[in-house]
Amino acid sequence: MIVIKFGGTSVGDAQRVANAIDIVAERRERDPIVVVSALAGVTNDLVASTEAACAGDMERVNEIVERVRRRHEDVAMRLVQQKFDFFDTFLKNLHRQIEEIHTILHGIALLREITPRAKDKVTAIGEKLSSVLFAYSMMMRALPGEHVDSEEVVVTDAKFGEASPLMDATRAAAARVLRPIVERRHIPVMGGFIGRTKDGATTTLGRGGSDYSAAIVGAAVDAEEIQIWTDVDGMMTCDPRLIPGARIIERISYVEAAELAWFGAKVLHPKTIAPAVERNIQVRVLNTHNVASPGTLVSAEGDHRDAGPRAVAVKRGVSVVHMTSSRMLGATGFLARLFAIFGELQVSVDLITTSEVSVSVTVDDTHNIDELKARLEANGIEVSVRDDQCIIAIVGRNLMMDSMVGARVFEAMRGTPMSMFSLGTSGLNLSIVCDERDADQAVRAIHAALFEAPVGAAS
Ligand code: ADP
Ligand code: ASP
Ligand code: MG
Repeated sequence: MIVIKFGGTSVGDAQRVANAIDIVAERRERDPIVVVSALAGVTNDLVASTEAACAGDMERVNEIVERVRRRHEDVAMRLVQQKFDFFDTFLKNLHRQIEEIHTILHGIALLREITPRAKDKVTAIGEKLSSVLFAYSMMMRALPGEHVDSEEVVVTDAKFGEASPLMDATRAAAARVLRPIVERRHIPVMGGFIGRTKDGATTTLGRGGSDYSAAIVGAAVDAEEIQIWTDVDGMMTCDPRLIPGARIIERISYVEAAELAWFGAKVLHPKTIAPAVERNIQVRVLNTHNVASPGTLVSAEGDHRDAGPRAVAVKRGVSVVHMTSSRMLGATGFLARLFAIFGELQVSVDLITTSEVSVSVTVDDTHNIDELKARLEANGIEVSVRDDQCIIAIVGRNLMMDSMVGARVFEAMRGTPMSMFSLGTSGLNLSIVCDERDADQAVRAIHAALFEAPVGAAS
């Protein structure tokens, strides 16, 4: 069994859905399970509709929902020929789902308030529609696609908007729901991004979470491979939107890929790797627009021949919290008390640097930093916060084995003020924090120094 996941751009319009179906057909012998994202842009539209409802702007809500409806109807019209019963059934399903979001959005508009639970119910519709559409379109092409409601398979906790799977329950559900379909030599098709709590509430796994769904399903059925089909040739030495000359990475280890994803390489959702590691399943990142490209293979071994830097990524929207206290000098237990405050407020920390009397950390700016600052200050800690920062991460195994790597990186940063830097003892990640407005130029300079340097130089 393999899991084949298509991202939003891979199912953006009728032609792309048709190409994606060809990709599935060519892999039929490997017993695929298909996981699809919402059509490109639809989740953004749904999020916008909840915001418009919150603002009481029903005109805008209707406009967005109508656009979503028309978009799916258009794709269906091209793929699922109208003379077939499939088309009517799909339209009925589409209209039922649209009615359901309308009801929820009306409720939100009345209350002028949205709960995370209601938001998940609305944003999940994108994947519900795309997966039904994909399954019907497969049937039109004489492929035995069978739609599976992802809520029947992926069981999660109740952290709406950022849910985590309950793997034992998910494994049992996958055995009950997916296996019999595969044993009939049919192809299950399910939406990514969505799960359901034990008591029946729809959850989502976080933006970009369909990759994570694919890995969860892969781990639940012990797939031999998880394929992530996207719009680039694989994991690359940098985001090709930022550096058009970025190179494909043929093989990479789980730890390197996870680190890159965590520090901003959007090609994989940061949580994707964990379920694959747990069951030792290889992940392949492939390009729907360039099927011949071998893509990137992510596995436990990665590429043994290749120590040193593999890629550079950038995570934006970061704040640096700098904390000073004279009580820290020679004191024991101080850091434990300090981080207990972070723990209580559920603020997660990415990077840390310390000196005798100060600690600096980076946190995502989505956290309530004012509250954090107030709590720290109430405990006698002086706090200063620097917003609009980014983390530039250079990732690779035994990164600093070649001393030229550090020299090249810092040379590339010449003239760009840095607010922190950190090198993990695992030698896997050299991270530099600087102003977000300097990010693009700094990443270009670092990429040029590490990956575009003449042969024989560090790379
Ligand atoms: P999908 O809709 O298929 O999930 P995403 O937009 O989430 O696609 O992820 C693919 C995008 O990730 C690419 O278009 C690319 O711009 C971006 N990206 C960021 N960093 C990297 C990287 N190191 N390698 C490849 N792509 C990257
Ligand atoms: N459709 C969801 C999103 O846009 C999940 C995904 O595409 O992976 O965030
Ligand atoms: Mg994605």
